[in-house]
Amino acid sequence: MGTKSEILFQRARKIIPGGVNSPVRAGKAVGMDPPFIARAEGCFLWDADGNQYVDYVGSWGPMILGHSHPDVVQAIGDQIKNGTSYGAPTALEVELAELIIDMVPSMEMVRMVNSGTEAAMSAVRLARGYTGREMIIKFEGCYHGHADSLLVSAGSGVATLGIPGSPGVPKDLAQKTLSLSFNNMDEVRRAFEQYGSQTAAVIVEPIPGNMGVVLPNTEFLSMLRRITKDYGSLLIFDEVITGFRVSAGGAQELFGIMPDLTCLGKIIGGGLPVGAYGGRKDIMERVAPDGDIYQAGTLSGNPLAMAAGLATLKILQKGMIYPELEKRGRALFSGLEDAARSSGLKVVVNRVGTMGSMFFTDKAVTDFASAKKSHTGMFRAYYAEMLNRGIYLAPSAFEASFISIAHDEEVIQKTIESARESFRSLKGKVY
Ligand SMILES: *Cc1c(COP(=O)(O)O)cnc(C)c1O
Repeated sequence: MGTKSEILFQRARKIIPGGVNSPVRAGKAVGMDPPFIARAEGCFLWDADGNQYVDYVGSWGPMILGHSHPDVVQAIGDQIKNGTSYGAPTALEVELAELIIDMVPSMEMVRMVNSGTEAAMSAVRLARGYTGREMIIKFEGCYHGHADSLLVSAGSGVATLGIPGSPGVPKDLAQKTLSLSFNNMDEVRRAFEQYGSQTAAVIVEPIPGNMGVVLPNTEFLSMLRRITKDYGSLLIFDEVITGFRVSAGGAQELFGIMPDLTCLGKIIGGGLPVGAYGGRKDIMERVAPDGDIYQAGTLSGNPLAMAAGLATLKILQKGMIYPELEKRGRALFSGLEDAARSSGLKVVVNRVGTMGSMFFTDKAVTDFASAKKSHTGMFRAYYAEMLNRGIYLAPSAFEASFISIAHDEEVIQKTIESARESFRSLKGKVY
């Protein structure tokens, strides 16, 4: 016997690797089996056993309007009566493309795909095809989906060529990816001195969210813009998380820095599977069938996904929602920080708008190396305490928490109170 979630997990593990369709969900990093979710509304989730949680994962980023937003539900419902997929052009995808180009400053053309992985993989292929070069520069701790070229994370230091971050990634391909430390301009400069003329692109999360939230130094992103231009390489912003989250036009609008290509995902699907990549017209025109660089998708531009994305972006486009989101983000994360400090715990809180992370360390977190200083044992204990109080966090010390417009003042105060109790019970224990 066990809970419904436990029984489901036992069944799942027999037939799905780790019992999950995406690794972090399994909860290995926190040593806990995952609740199986049955239902969601607003900022709440309910598991198969009827337990209610306040959701700070938001499906890992898409749910900025909260779950089951009436406009999104209506849009999907209206479309579903007309069929679910045609494999042919539709008005919906044109409308969504126009809206994206209107909102994201650097984008002149866009191609829809089905996930962030596909968006980043396709943008890298396009950059390689367009420049006729093969090397890619990325940053440690940034995640760009699981395409072979982008799984490389090890090999810090300019001279070190990347090694595969995963068995199965061909060595020859991994060697074409340089992984540098985020915010380190010297490393970038040295990498370009040595490999600049072979470098197709620099791909970066302008505000990394996949090592926990890390803020870019003001000069770092503009330096990337300058140096890529000088060497004839492309700058790719992976805004799969930051797009439509940190502002209506993403991080590029927030910082006023225009990349050549942008990857989108998560929010543009309104909770359905979507990704997109786009940017400068002269580059995007190289994509088939206008150009010779191939990329395709049976379900790309899927009408249900387009309808959900369109309904979501229409609300975000007005921009009215962002000052309110900022207010709630500030209230939550400064409340958590305050609660930790008043229990005598050392934490670092990094936040932009509604995305933020709390690291259990007393040193500034500015890159992957400093993020890894965070005390994972303490995070594990904090995670368990919070889950017991009905607060659903990402089950990893190196993930962002996301809030939505459905997280109201009351829920945020309840969360801070739960954190206060959790910190009290952590205090004085050894991890
Ligand atoms: C989630 C994410 C991806 C991958 O998107 P999927 O839809 O999971 O394939 C790529 N880049 C960033 C920055 C992400 O956060």
